[in-house]
Amino acid sequence: MIQKTILLSFFLAIIVVLFSFTPTKENKQKVLKTIIVDAGHGLMPGGGHNGAKGTYSYEDDICLAIDKILVAHLEEALPGVKIIETRTDENIVPLHRRAEIANENHGDLFISIHCNAMPPNQHSEQIGTKTVTSYVGKGKKRRKVTRKVPQYRYWTTPNPRKGTETYIWGAHKNEDKEVAVRENAPMLQEENYKENYGDIDPNSPEFIALSLLKTKQFFKRSATLAGFVENEFTKVGRTSSGQQQRQIGIWVLQATAMPSVLVETGFLTNREEEDYLNSKEGQDEIATCVTEAVKNYINWLEKSNIQNSNTQNNEPASSNDTKAFLNMIETKEKNGL
Ligand SMILES: [Zn+2]
Repeated sequence: MIQKTILLSFFLAIIVVLFSFTPTKENKQKVLKTIIVDAGHGLMPGGGHNGAKGTYSYEDDICLAIDKILVAHLEEALPGVKIIETRTDENIVPLHRRAEIANENHGDLFISIHCNAMPPNQHSEQIGTKTVTSYVGKGKKRRKVTRKVPQYRYWTTPNPRKGTETYIWGAHKNEDKEVAVRENAPMLQEENYKENYGDIDPNSPEFIALSLLKTKQFFKRSATLAGFVENEFTKVGRTSSGQQQRQIGIWVLQATAMPSVLVETGFLTNREEEDYLNSKEGQDEIATCVTEAVKNYINWLEKSNIQNSNTQNNEPASSNDTKAFLNMIETKEKNGL
């Protein structure tokens, strides 16, 4: 009898222990296992800043601050989902390494955090004229000539542009070179550029062709997430320029074999937004918006029954005949494949 009681208590104890270890917040969704969060830019080995610059703050620092809050929000909202950062401290991580981290960890989603900037507006006005004297002709024909030359004053004012935009890799559009050059500057400044990126010319037809193929695989998912992100920004009253595509540059979006977006969280060159981007409230609001967008994205994936993303269906590694390859893709496109 005593033995029976002991046995019964033992089983009861086991049951209690088992129940207490059952996770209360279970990760039910199966569409997304790993999210890569990528804080743009970072300090160069010499200590210099490398991203956009405001009147008192730098993109490098703001990206990292938002990254940290975003990681915490995502971990809380999506228990069981692995969140991986490409840059964990203030130091820059080469772009090829960021892509490697994302690919090695088999990310299902890549979210890059950046801040925007615009050059100041140039102005000029005529403030008067100046008499300029010169001499024409030679010898006896030489004479004095005076003429009035308008005088101008030049000045700049901060560019008022503000708001958010979320980029996805777009192999169709050829625009916005300036922004692309800025976002890719770290890549070009790396010492072992050739070693790390090989002979990749991001403007070569082959690179663009491969990009196009990759774009098609992940386009819909990237575009949908970008739309969700911008929706959330609009809901909290930010000015949204919506989802955008870039062809040139944004190497990191291109090199990640997963749906990927680059979120420009606001303009550092707009003083009001610079304050917002530097505030804890602003950073938290941005992180909350992106987290909500990811949750919507998961729901959308579940509803559309799209299974986990990393199926590389026969993606050719490279092609010797670039032209034929391009034609093949164009034909596929025309046939809506
Ligand atoms: Zn940037």
